[in-house]
Amino acid sequence: SFEKDIEFLTANLDRYADFPKPGINFRDTFALFRNPVTYKKVIDIFTDHISKLGADVIVGLESRGFILGGAICYNLGIPFVPIRKKGKLPGKVVEFKYELEYGQDVFEIQEAAIKKGAKVVIVDDLIATGGSCMAAIELLKKVQAEVVECVVLVELTDLDWRSKVSTKTTSFIKIDS
Ligand code: AMP
Repeated sequence: SFEKDIEFLTANLDRYADFPKPGINFRDTFALFRNPVTYKKVIDIFTDHISKLGADVIVGLESRGFILGGAICYNLGIPFVPIRKKGKLPGKVVEFKYELEYGQDVFEIQEAAIKKGAKVVIVDDLIATGGSCMAAIELLKKVQAEVVECVVLVELTDLDWRSKVSTKTTSFIKIDS
């Protein structure tokens, strides 16, 4: 089991108060990615879990989801596909607009990147309000993929992301915001 590793990772996660704005406790997962020891533990934990899900594709959310997704796909020998903010991906894209606290944001995926019916696992570093995962799920529905699970490194347990994200979600580090 990864219990001891998860304790170690939790202890090494950096926290910045009032970033990027007052009232937000920013959990800096880059602190775990830049250390090869903790990065390897993180990737091993994700790879072990996702290897049991029968995924055809891993979709990573911009941008820390890319750092996770690429290495997991390398281990599993399956394709990596990015979801990015509007205007970053070339060619035909499918988009999904979603509401933020103030205003709107748009996620995009390349139309040719995912086959209809593909089993997709979404990866990101952290789930807070659940808005990003929800938008990714809706976007993947538009391209007729089957989202089997969302897998995140960190879950902010006191936030109500479950009301937005009905797809099964797995997290390894569980902390309050
Ligand atoms: P949300 O859409 O509210 O679930 O937020 C998740 C996305 O925003 C992830 O891509 C995170 O990297 C980032 N994020 C949101 N809140 C935090 C936080 N407190 N610390 C670090 N990253 C966060």
